[in-house]
Amino acid sequence: MNPIFSALPTTIFETMSRLAREHQAVNLGQGFPDDPGPEDVRRKAAEAVVAGWNQYPPMMGLPELRQATATHFRHWQGLELDPEAEVMITSGATEAIAGALMAIVSPGDEVVLFEPMYDAYLPLVRRAGGIPKFVTLTPPHFGLSEEALAKAFSPKTKAVLFNNPLNPTATNFSAADLDLLASFCIRHDAVAICDDVWEHVVFDGHRHKPLMSRPGMRERTVKISSAGKIFSLTGWKVGMVMAAPELMRVLAKAHQYITFTTPPNLQAAVAYGLGKDDAYFEGMRTDFQRSRDRFAGGLSDLGFSVLPSAGTYFLNVDIAPLGQGDDVAFCQRLVVEHGVAAIPVSAFYAEGAVRNVVRFCFAKHDATLDKALERLAALR
Ligand code: GLN
Repeated sequence: MNPIFSALPTTIFETMSRLAREHQAVNLGQGFPDDPGPEDVRRKAAEAVVAGWNQYPPMMGLPELRQATATHFRHWQGLELDPEAEVMITSGATEAIAGALMAIVSPGDEVVLFEPMYDAYLPLVRRAGGIPKFVTLTPPHFGLSEEALAKAFSPKTKAVLFNNPLNPTATNFSAADLDLLASFCIRHDAVAICDDVWEHVVFDGHRHKPLMSRPGMRERTVKISSAGKIFSLTGWKVGMVMAAPELMRVLAKAHQYITFTTPPNLQAAVAYGLGKDDAYFEGMRTDFQRSRDRFAGGLSDLGFSVLPSAGTYFLNVDIAPLGQGDDVAFCQRLVVEHGVAAIPVSAFYAEGAVRNVVRFCFAKHDATLDKALERLAALR
């Protein structure tokens, strides 16, 4: 048995969702929306299944989805991508991240990670033989600093794995942050593996800026996007990978021996969905932002110390002022005694000793959020 994997705990998302079921809790832990996703996109998938789009599609993805991906990201992010040579479809962003690490990292290579980080990153880096080097981001702003980057990068740096907007902190990194990170990648000849899955969930009139479009990054970036996040269809697991032809050739080798292909019916529906007009994407952002404001307002009224949320559908609370123990103990009590599931953010740290932040998912109906707030009121 591989000791790296046999020693791993069950993911915090699975653990909290199980506890939520056991205690009939309002589940604001694992991040998935109450909204069923756009009906026309779901209908397209159903039609494709019935019409017989059910055999292996091309290994790199359906041509129409690769084209739709290139068109979508030219429109929204100004990227110029050749759908033939620079776009590949995977079974979710997580496959794309795992494949990129397998394809790019050799044993002993260093990989820069930004913590708090999504829980899959570290085991995957280790399994690829990579040596993790952490940039620790701390509340309330979770910002990047030149000093922290200088400590993490070295002549052995092969890659960085960068999530923007960042789950769980809900940070949307600024252009200055991106340029700073780009300068380190260029100086150390490192590949940036960019988990951009939250790119459409950015608030307050801001837009996502991809690291790939910063000067000097086009040839050294793997951009990873997710239809599950873009359309609130988290179970679909359709990922879009974008990279320059030379990088894409090795990424394709990993994909062909991991999943080989991705359900063609879902790909057809995503190809249709990516072409939806701007109003759909603006509407989704507006709806999430309204939920964010409703929940943040409710939490603040209850006296919680709410941290800013610039993107993703998560909101964090600093529990230190409550004086009720660390985040793990707090979340345990919250779900068992008060019937609300949340995620302790310490689960996303490997080195940094941040134990006072708790993450809530606000991509829920008003009634769900209000019920959670009612239950949280008992804590004060
Ligand atoms: N991405 C989601 C989150 O951060 C859920 C992931 C999962 O359940 N593995 O909550």
